[in-house]
Amino acid sequence: MLAAVERFRIIDLGCKVNRYDGEVVRAELRRCGLREAREQEAAGLVVLNACAVTDRAVQKGRQALRRLRRENPGARLLVTGCMTPADRDGYQRLEPGLLAVLQGERRDLGRILADYLAGAAPATRAGEAMLDGAAFASRTRAFLKVQDGCDAACSFCVVPLIRGAARSRSRAEVLAEAAALLERGFRELVLCGVHLGHYGKDSGDDLGGLLLAVARLPGEFRLRLSSLEVNEADEALARILASSSRFAPHLHLPLQSGDDGVLAAMRRPYTWEGYRRRLENLRAVLPGVALTTDVIAGFPGESDEAFGRTLAALEAVRFAKVHVFPFSPRAGTEAARLPRRVAVPLVRQRVAELLRAERRLREEGDHGLIGTSATVLVESAGGAFSSGLCEQGRRFRLPAGLPTSTFIRCRVAGRAGADLLGEPCP
Ligand code: SF4
Repeated sequence: MLAAVERFRIIDLGCKVNRYDGEVVRAELRRCGLREAREQEAAGLVVLNACAVTDRAVQKGRQALRRLRRENPGARLLVTGCMTPADRDGYQRLEPGLLAVLQGERRDLGRILADYLAGAAPATRAGEAMLDGAAFASRTRAFLKVQDGCDAACSFCVVPLIRGAARSRSRAEVLAEAAALLERGFRELVLCGVHLGHYGKDSGDDLGGLLLAVARLPGEFRLRLSSLEVNEADEALARILASSSRFAPHLHLPLQSGDDGVLAAMRRPYTWEGYRRRLENLRAVLPGVALTTDVIAGFPGESDEAFGRTLAALEAVRFAKVHVFPFSPRAGTEAARLPRRVAVPLVRQRVAELLRAERRLREEGDHGLIGTSATVLVESAGGAFSSGLCEQGRRFRLPAGLPTSTFIRCRVAGRAGADLLGEPCP
């Protein structure tokens, strides 16, 4: 007989969509009568909200599971989030008694949790599980999933195998959830999806229309888009983003490689020239837009010359931030079966080179920002300095003690590590 479960703890890994899904799990567990354990409290149920995008992410999940078990001996274990059936088997080998809920089973999450906790949890509350964003950063910025799944077939990506076909939430549902989050005091909503630019393609809606509708909600807030495919960041969307200061001028557009041969092997639907031209058009409509990206180092067949073209692409675009990933073959994907693998030491070397270039370019870009101004949403103010993100997605350090959840206009005074130093404008 297992002990009663009153408190739970969740570790969230991965992207914004997965973080949002973690919030849904929290809401369901609260409905089951449980509450989230505070830092030093023991928990009777621990949840790993796993990520499966790379082998490294799965490894991190296994490490987290071992730690959760060590810190919560006797607790029930639940793994959810992104995992392939093979990842699930790996987790279950580590902890034979754990409950694993795959993406395909999440529709029944409430019932599965209620069954799992039957008799062990205080009392299930009737009604819809309400998302309250308790775990989102300081109640200032919330992630709002508007779409899930992906119909693209990028050869390296395991996500469509895990999350299935693209499907959009209805506009009414998104608007109701956005209004509820704003009502709870959130000042920034980040609209996210696995294939965000495909929002509405399955339901006769479109992302631009959704953005305009959310922006019409009352209150003082900002809207940001999470990762978007470059072909979907078209002029119409740029014009919408340029139409109101409510929209953060920040686009994350994964490039993955600057070499057309590698892009074709990745099954990415653009060439480097097409990507570059699209950025040029975006910058013409949205002159101050901050562009961030992802690149993969060491994709099968990536020659020194091909890698050099990715480095050259970073120099040409001067992204505000580049996330660099070593190629990681995920079982079941086309890329895992491709010949001409790049040796691991060379992949590591290329990752290091990309990171060096990224740091240098960011430092150079930051020097150009000194003296300009930005609007920072203050998230935390408890320590030696206040901190928050500006509309372009950069983290700022500001003087300590500023009111949180407020927008502060400030001047860029310098850099502090990877952050910018801000001075509030009089
Ligand atoms: S667009 Fe490509 S990289 Fe993004 S989730 Fe879909 S398949 Fe994966």
